[in-house]
Amino acid sequence: MSALPGHWVDPVEGDARPPASADVVVIGAGIAGVAAAYTLAKAGHSVALLEKGVVAGEQSSRNWGWCRLMSRDEREIPLMQRAHALWDQWPGEIGQEMGFRRNGLLYVTKDPKELAGWEAWAEMARPYQAPVRIIGAEEARRLAPGAPQEWIGGVVSPQDGRAEPGLAAPAIARAARALGASLVQNCAVRGLDTTGGRISGVFTEHGLVKTNAVILAGGAWSSMFLRRHGIDLPQSSVHSTVFATTPAPQVVEGGFYSADLCLTPLLDGGYIVAAKARTRIEITPAAIRYAARFGRSLLANRKVVELRMGRSFFEGPDTIHRKWRFDRETVFERIRVLNAKPNLALVEPALRDIVAACPELQGIQAARVWAGWIDLTPDVVPVIDNLAALPGLTVATGLSGHGFGIGPAIGELAAQMATGVTPLVDPGAFRLARFQ
Ligand SMILES: Cc1cc2nc3c(=O)[nH]c(=O)nc-3n(C[C@H](O)[C@H](O)[C@H](O)COP(=O)(O)OP(=O)(O)OC[C@H]3O[C@@H](n4cnc5c(N)ncnc54)[C@H](O)[C@@H]3O)c2cc1C
Repeated sequence: MSALPGHWVDPVEGDARPPASADVVVIGAGIAGVAAAYTLAKAGHSVALLEKGVVAGEQSSRNWGWCRLMSRDEREIPLMQRAHALWDQWPGEIGQEMGFRRNGLLYVTKDPKELAGWEAWAEMARPYQAPVRIIGAEEARRLAPGAPQEWIGGVVSPQDGRAEPGLAAPAIARAARALGASLVQNCAVRGLDTTGGRISGVFTEHGLVKTNAVILAGGAWSSMFLRRHGIDLPQSSVHSTVFATTPAPQVVEGGFYSADLCLTPLLDGGYIVAAKARTRIEITPAAIRYAARFGRSLLANRKVVELRMGRSFFEGPDTIHRKWRFDRETVFERIRVLNAKPNLALVEPALRDIVAACPELQGIQAARVWAGWIDLTPDVVPVIDNLAALPGLTVATGLSGHGFGIGPAIGELAAQMATGVTPLVDPGAFRLARFQ
């Protein structure tokens, strides 16, 4: 397949240099970091949002865009409900298009075990008034796009939705900046400065920024960053390829999931497509180090992941890099954007499958193809915590493959925790100590 452009992210103008000091420094301008910065700026704090590459250059612009309550771990439900409220509120407040539409998600299956899992989830979520509806075979055949297949049932979750991955985090970053936050891209944070055991600043490639409060929202890099400070956060990454298509007839209104194919409509009339065998685990030092803790989730997902050895063994966030100096170039500057190589072999078969399933999409082409490294924790639930080992440090990371949709509320929660505001959602379930 000839080379196609990769993922797209709306560029954001930033500041040239970080300030000398800030009430709060946020490390990483993915969805969690920009949401934290926006919340802090709105509350009147001075904020420095420091990003080693560009806003949303990593996972936050490479995802499918799903903002879903459906199938979340019970611990995440109140936070996701808050995130939905923020997705409703922020585009108007910010005055920018984030591509958020609550036009529902549809899941269908041919596998009784998968259907039973969704039924069990709907039962568990009933006390939270989760508006999902289990559907039978006949309705699944009627609602699923394309020619009827042997679907045995599915789920409709009408209030879930999707946002545009290339637009959302940049829009929030711009809004934070408009409220006075300083945003510096190409500004790696090399480490934390401490005084008397408390955070007193961050060492950046442009010098020291003084602060008493830091939010680490470093995505796949957080574990490595913390290791340098003697803190163990089990985290490992998986590789996933997706592609966007050329504009095509609309066969689904919201997102569509089946084991072999997922479609997400984009604002330009194309789709984001996630094909079968889209996820790969590479054997890395981090994967080996944390293998015992990840065993259960690996086993649960064994049908959709492929294990192999790759470059990530030697470079990137999953190497066990633990010692570096703060006055010299670090790996955070050497890898400004973690640019995973997509598995191009997925694209042509996926296009054939799409057309076989939905003949009205005849002629659809891939327009862009990309991959991302998805950071996971052992229980695939984030860590959002004020770390007792380093007073002044709040961590908001390990969003585990479904952090885009919940990201606004994670950033808001981290901002509240960093500034001593009573959190709107109880953070107890997200403590790092659960892994220790
Ligand atoms: C293919 C794919 C599909 C997905 N689909 C969905 C979906 O449909 N719905 C959903 O909810 N989620 C989805 N996700 C997951 C979602 O994208 C992530 O969970 C979420 O974007 C993570 O956000 P984040 O802010 O934690 O990390 P990131 O977006 O990765 O941002 C972290 C940032 O920190 C910066 N950084 C790290 N270290 C430093 C440092 N030392 N100094 C300065 N900056 C630093 C990085 O450069 C990076 O920009 C998907 C992910 C992928 C890859």
